[in-house]
Amino acid sequence: TRERIKNFLRRNAFVILTITAVVLGIALAFALRPYKMTFRQIKYFSFPGELLMRMLQMLVLPLIVSSLVTGMASLDGKASGKMGVRAVLYYMLTTIIAVFIGIFMVIIIHPGKGSKDKLHREGKIEQVHTTDAFMDLIRNMFPPNLVEACFRQYKTQYSTRVVTRTVLHSPNSTATSMLAPLLENTTGILHNVTQALGSLQEVLNFEEIIPVPGSVNGLNALGLVVFSMCFGLVIGSMKQKGRPLQEFFNSLNEAILRLVSIIIWYAPVGILFLIAGKILEMEDLAVMGGQLGMYTLTVIVGLLIHALCVLPLLYFIITHKNPWIFMAGLLQALITALGTSSSSATLPITFRCLEENIGVDKRVTRFVLPVGATINMDGTALYEALAAIFIAQVNNYELDFGQIITISITATAASIGAAGIPQAGLVTMMIVLTSVGLPTEDITLIIAVDWFLDRLRTTTNVLGDSLGAGIVEHLSRHELEAQDAELENSVIEE
Ligand code: ASP
Repeated sequence: TRERIKNFLRRNAFVILTITAVVLGIALAFALRPYKMTFRQIKYFSFPGELLMRMLQMLVLPLIVSSLVTGMASLDGKASGKMGVRAVLYYMLTTIIAVFIGIFMVIIIHPGKGSKDKLHREGKIEQVHTTDAFMDLIRNMFPPNLVEACFRQYKTQYSTRVVTRTVLHSPNSTATSMLAPLLENTTGILHNVTQALGSLQEVLNFEEIIPVPGSVNGLNALGLVVFSMCFGLVIGSMKQKGRPLQEFFNSLNEAILRLVSIIIWYAPVGILFLIAGKILEMEDLAVMGGQLGMYTLTVIVGLLIHALCVLPLLYFIITHKNPWIFMAGLLQALITALGTSSSSATLPITFRCLEENIGVDKRVTRFVLPVGATINMDGTALYEALAAIFIAQVNNYELDFGQIITISITATAASIGAAGIPQAGLVTMMIVLTSVGLPTEDITLIIAVDWFLDRLRTTTNVLGDSLGAGIVEHLSRHELEAQDAELENSVIEE
């Protein structure tokens, strides 16, 4: 038995270390909280965590590009087409279910109950139309400059202007101080960031704008995904002539994944400090009373239903395999998502878990994971629909059926448009709120708990992407086998 225990420990070393790190981080933070550290001290304290974020983010760009290019190039046109259709259908289905759960939960639990104020609106409010939001989304798919897309999202036209204005006019300074760093990083929906921050600084007399730890430099992931997929397809169709490029990206991909296996040793340390730092920063738990507490609970229950019932059930129905075994292999990625609150920063770990622990076909992961991390965000969609209706409830604002449909459509779009970075969903939620005429300033109501809910929805997002890869692999097994056989034949011929 001792041999067995040893073996078990060796095989699960990373997961055990990571779980220990989470527990230690929470314990350490609560032990240090009575000392009321200053903001600066907390930043110093969580520095090792910030480093982990940076290391992971460093890999995201080459990882997305190399895995998509090689993934597409190694599939023949028909197989990749079918796989693409399956993946997109899965994304749509799960996102719609998630939105539905969010709406259902918030209507049933009604966490905004007990408000006396009624929403008064003076004058005309500027609305972001659903069409504008969709057009911005499509604009982002086609970055006019690839190099720029690697460090900044393509500036969007309309919705961002409204967002900037709302933030500038927001009377509540906590909102503005919270949102300023977010806006700096979620450039996907912010037009003219520097200018906005400049005027923010004037308006509010900011002493300094401190970047939030873990913020990701803008990366137009959506644009890069579209480009890499097309590029990969073309390389694949070039046969012999495309070989050198295919080999180049293949080898790049391998190299990046090797770097991941080095960084993974540091991950537990980073996660410990990320979590501890966040708990130290947290405001007093008293804010959790009343409506906000109920709201938090509603989001948690909704996310749990989606992550622990709907997704595993769907996986089981389609593949007839045990979803819990799959999820156990994914544990480390899930904890990393919880620690980093960024699905793109988690991507390298997700790759590793799926390929090494679970053994999902590389042709599938390379294709499905980067796309999933960019556009498939079940947790975010659920959260955005739920939060928007909560804000309506708090304002005693009756939503009619049409408006609820609008919310479900815009929440879906906003989740696709949200970058996989911390709290991106909070910013894209402005689109949802304005689409039905709800006050965007009221985002301030939920900011206090967003850092926490963000972690949970990111974990749900990563789970959704991963189970999706498992499902797509199962559905595409015939094409994959056929391709294997073809490859074998050609080797024999040679
Ligand atoms: N943080 C989330 C993610 O990376 C996005 C969000 O804010 O909902 O998946």
